[in-house]
Amino acid sequence: MGHPVNLSMNEPAMERNVDTDSGMVSDGMINDEMVDVTATVNKATLYVVATPIGNLGDITLRALEVLKAADVIAAEDTRVTIRLLNRHGIAGRLVAVHEHNERRAAERVTELLAEGKTVALVSDAGTPGIADPGAQVVAAVRTAGYAVVPIPGPNAAATVLSASGFEASRFLFCGFLPSRAAERRRLLAELAAQTALLVFYEAPHRVADCVADLCAAFGGARTIVIARELTKIHETLHRCRLDEALAWLEADDNHRRGEFVLVVEGAVAAESTVAGVDIETVLKTLLAELPVKQAVALAVKLTDGNRNVLYKRALTLKSKNRDET
Ligand code: SAM
Repeated sequence: MGHPVNLSMNEPAMERNVDTDSGMVSDGMINDEMVDVTATVNKATLYVVATPIGNLGDITLRALEVLKAADVIAAEDTRVTIRLLNRHGIAGRLVAVHEHNERRAAERVTELLAEGKTVALVSDAGTPGIADPGAQVVAAVRTAGYAVVPIPGPNAAATVLSASGFEASRFLFCGFLPSRAAERRRLLAELAAQTALLVFYEAPHRVADCVADLCAAFGGARTIVIARELTKIHETLHRCRLDEALAWLEADDNHRRGEFVLVVEGAVAAESTVAGVDIETVLKTLLAELPVKQAVALAVKLTDGNRNVLYKRALTLKSKNRDET
């Protein structure tokens, strides 16, 4: 069975609000239903441990205790995880679990659990399995009948949502958009009528193209939050209209550096689609009947889209049409 690890805080208990069972001090903000901080790290169990997304201090007490107690740490890139472990004085036995060996690694982890070992699964940053390896390992371990315990912590999407200022109660996590332009635009066209907030991950070399495509697909009137380098020295959260976003990115090379999360307002709030029809469809329909200039002018009126972005898109669609005929 498990070997208990006491995560209780070391500070002496203050006189007020001391839970006599756990010895835990609260300032009255802690929900009565929360468990105390004493945890047990079990054998033959896989712990899925969230790690920092930039700031090495962003790691929970529970995560540190699990990493300390684990017999094996299954890591996306062992070099990245070693830095984190060194920072917290943890010596761990590491095995690699990355995109290209995940199936094999899943078997290895299951074997370790069969030997009664405690395994902690981490990715390079944030929560494993979210735009990161981990899902195959968890699925295999569950199928084999072993316990899987999540140790929550940082996640880039949740981090930006918490500070983005949107009041919407629903969001759709879209992860990375496809790198092929045609596939990306097809997916965005599907998402144009989506009313939940949309959350995208993006790489620095593609962020400008991505924002241009978002604007073409959704219109310029929606609000976007561009979050870069969350929790790091150059953390920036910029909020603007979608049709102002490209200009902001292009105004300063630094605005396009680092890691990005984009949060875009959903369709109904912005009323930017025409009866649920996406802007790409509006543009295509108008182009089938009208010259480019007129089609773009009408598309701008109907969708409140950005004229330049729609014009560029119209020219692409026209030349594509010519090539196909
Ligand atoms: N598993 C991670 C999570 O829970 O958020 C995501 C890993 S995914 C491979 C990496 C992407 O997440 C980056 O390209 C970026 O889009 C986003 N990301 C991760 N850390 C970030 C940060 N500090 N600031 C902004 N975006 C970040």
